[in-house]
Amino acid sequence: MCDCEFASSMNSSMPCIVPYDISELECETLMALFLETALYVQNVRIEMVTNRGKQGGQEMHPATTLGLTVYKPTIRFASWLDREQRIDAIAHELLHILLVYRYGLRMIDRRSHHFGSSQDIFDYFLNLSKHWKYFLEQTVNTIHHQILVDYLKEEYRIVSNLQLTLFRHNFRIVLKSYYPDKESQYAKGLIAFEHKKLVGRIENVINPNQQPEFFWMAYCSAQKHFGGYGFHAIPPSLTYEESVFSFLEDLGYKRRDFRFVPVKSSESSICPREV
Ligand SMILES: [Zn+2]
Repeated sequence: MCDCEFASSMNSSMPCIVPYDISELECETLMALFLETALYVQNVRIEMVTNRGKQGGQEMHPATTLGLTVYKPTIRFASWLDREQRIDAIAHELLHILLVYRYGLRMIDRRSHHFGSSQDIFDYFLNLSKHWKYFLEQTVNTIHHQILVDYLKEEYRIVSNLQLTLFRHNFRIVLKSYYPDKESQYAKGLIAFEHKKLVGRIENVINPNQQPEFFWMAYCSAQKHFGGYGFHAIPPSLTYEESVFSFLEDLGYKRRDFRFVPVKSSESSICPREV
């Protein structure tokens, strides 16, 4: 999404991007989902990227959504997906869009900082180059995915085979990686929590005793704040936002440093709360 679960490995050289008409897929349920999504945000675009094949040995993200935070969502998917996979991937992205615009489960971003002290400035710029984007996107993806797999299956009879296959593949890649910064380890803990909810026991794929403290902090906090979410338990927007803030606070962050996007017009002039 979102620059989602499926996100960013579509950035190879010279992509050929063409508009795509999903009626070509002749899937009534996908069209119904598209039309439902269009009730909540206008001009959802679908585009096909035709530049590359599958990549081995790295995370695979053959579909993503751009512009989700600025009311201009554009879904892009890789042309090597077959028909069933295209339906699966586009439906997945549409559900992310629906969760943001219909249910108010928005993305979270770092707030432009109002500096209080030289230490604040130092901390802010020290952290800028770390893996913040990946961590914050993963936070929302993990929450959305608790809901959207069953949502697609029960409402639209679309089974997320592609997403679950990619998730298993990408989790194995993530487990092999190591970055010393907290945000990367928090993201890994989130993905492990998602694995437990969507696939099953993590003990089958990792050694719990070898995971660092930050991994378990994120895993346990995600279980505490997001563990009850699902298709039949979609949280109200404010409850969701409070749970995300609480999750971040458990990890040592201040809620005033974050904001949800897209920004509502009523929020645009609000100063961050001091907490
Ligand atoms: Zn996703």
